[in-house]
Amino acid sequence: MDRHFTLLPGDGIGPEIITQARCVLEALARKFGHSFEFTECMIGGCAIDATGDPLPQATIDACRASDGVLLGAVGGPKWDDPSAKTRPEAGLLRIRKEMGLFANLRPITPFAELLDASPLKREIVEGTDILFFRELTGGIYFGPSGSEDLPDGGVRAFSTMVYETSEIERIFRLAADAARKRKKHLTMVDKANVLEASRLWRKVCAKIVAEEYPDLTYDVVLVDAMAMHLISRPTSFDVVVTSNMFGDILTDEASMLPGSLGMLPSASIGAQGPGLYEPIHGSAPDIAGKGIANPLATILAAAMMLRHSCDMAVEADAVEAAVQAVLAAGYRTADIARKGEPSLGTVEMTDKVLEKLA
Ligand code: NAD
Repeated sequence: MDRHFTLLPGDGIGPEIITQARCVLEALARKFGHSFEFTECMIGGCAIDATGDPLPQATIDACRASDGVLLGAVGGPKWDDPSAKTRPEAGLLRIRKEMGLFANLRPITPFAELLDASPLKREIVEGTDILFFRELTGGIYFGPSGSEDLPDGGVRAFSTMVYETSEIERIFRLAADAARKRKKHLTMVDKANVLEASRLWRKVCAKIVAEEYPDLTYDVVLVDAMAMHLISRPTSFDVVVTSNMFGDILTDEASMLPGSLGMLPSASIGAQGPGLYEPIHGSAPDIAGKGIANPLATILAAAMMLRHSCDMAVEADAVEAAVQAVLAAGYRTADIARKGEPSLGTVEMTDKVLEKLA
């Protein structure tokens, strides 16, 4: 099969880890007899430096024309000036919008070999396998907001959570379809005891489950309770679906379960067209250029791209199995090594994955 991918290395460690993910994709293409082509484009701080825009039009065009987009990370202290006209993160928000990516998928599946790196006890984390669906383009991050000066010298500021039925339906159906292919258990997280927008979520989701997914077990959990359950009994969840802000917070909380940010991929997808795949960590400016970044989250993001955007489940399985085998063989990058344990650099770690793939 011929596939064309757009690579967006971005800033900080982004270029280092994207180079490694590309090596893995090229090795896979050779192994399975595919032809993969790549176009590299700018996003984030490097794009601001080169063009003044964190998301140049050429990047948008290339992303839209490809089968999948693999992103490193954007941002860094160089572009942190709060009075700057634009910021690297603006490029990220815009690419999601331009590509119509309304669903963010985050698998939280700790590797057995790394359980001792988790801040939680092994017996609590062991067996955790959650797939989060976070609504990505609506809710309080995109609703009306503003601020005004008050006569008493203070300021009033507001942000508004707004959802429409269709926005809830489309992400909920994606999550329910995924649950059907997994353990058939779906959890919707809201704050329906307080928020009107959450009450709409509850009504819309209950109707869809009753009419279209009677084969699923379905429950609703308040977001404050979910924050507790995630660290007290994470193994009781399968697929979890929620709104933008709740998903933002809960997925970051859940990302701590596996013990390292350097291991977790995510995908953002829409109704049609290519998806955007990336590690969940940032540009790690503190280690950029040192050759010690963990490339595995990006390599696993590439596997998600093959699975969700290219219908290449066998190839995705092969990558995930190679990563698992490398960890089982005891290889570690610095972020996942125990104190005193030897560690590999970015390139050496990728080489181990390539060896297992071969
Ligand atoms: P970060 O994820 O970049 O780093 C947090 C810590 O984890 C650092 O100590 C870093 O060295 C370590 N780390 C992260 N990824 C690693 C990897 N692959 N291997 C080894 N160690 C790794 O978060 P931060 O420091 O809060 O943010 C740095 C910059 O990244 C900021 O400009 C922020 O805005 C940006 N950011 C971008 C994204 C994105 O592009 N999607 C996401 C989060 C943060």
